[in-house]
Amino acid sequence: MSQPAGRSVLADFAAALAGGSLKCVDLTNTLSPDFPVIVLPPEFGACAPFRMEEVSRYDANGPAWYWNAISMNEHTGTHFDAPAHWVTGRDLPSNTVDAVPPADFLAPAVVINITREAAADADFVLTRDFLEGWEQANGLIPPRHWIALRTDWYKKVGTPDYLNMQEDGAHSPGPDAGAMDFLVHERDCVGLAVETVGTDAGQASHFNPPFPAHSILHGNGRYGLQCLRNLDQLPTFGAIIVACPLKIEGGSGSPLRVIAIIEEDAA
Ligand code: MN
Repeated sequence: MSQPAGRSVLADFAAALAGGSLKCVDLTNTLSPDFPVIVLPPEFGACAPFRMEEVSRYDANGPAWYWNAISMNEHTGTHFDAPAHWVTGRDLPSNTVDAVPPADFLAPAVVINITREAAADADFVLTRDFLEGWEQANGLIPPRHWIALRTDWYKKVGTPDYLNMQEDGAHSPGPDAGAMDFLVHERDCVGLAVETVGTDAGQASHFNPPFPAHSILHGNGRYGLQCLRNLDQLPTFGAIIVACPLKIEGGSGSPLRVIAIIEEDAA
């Protein structure tokens, strides 16, 4: 017996998936030893790059099977930041990747395009003023959305401009504390999703407070997604982001595959 369309939200969704009117966009960069990781000052522990060691490939170590051993930092490649990643979130409940409510792994996104600003100034700072102007032009940021910051920064992957390290550290765009307070407390965001290597600007160690995205997101139980790609393929409103981190016991974050579901003609 066939299910009549319109009987339920999920039935409509299933029909759209099966009928091909929804499109999946891969927001994930490929994990490889070459993918750049965040660079911290030398007095701090470093972020390990992705490593892969072959165990067997249809050979003496495994005549019929191919598999690898892998290792990396929890924050290598396209990855999820849990509240426990930051000291401000250390005492929150459900603050590690194994404890985050799974409902939070599926959320809509609003895409804020700062491509032009980031191209003109690698240190572009996203402010509350900018966001309020953006809302006047585009509409209110709805609650319980990922704030996806489109910079087209992913197009720099494979070049030194991705990390953009200078003598005084990294230079890449990010929000200030006023923008983060606004997004968390007045727009109830799920988290901040970016194409750069961190949710914070490259120079955010000099901000007040330092690292306002990490500090305010994670101190309020919100999440980060970093090293995304293809945000230019998403509509301003209407994309659904699926981002399920690995269930690492006590983990502060996790590499993951991130996809967006959009309507076929949405972008
Ligand atoms: Mn991270």
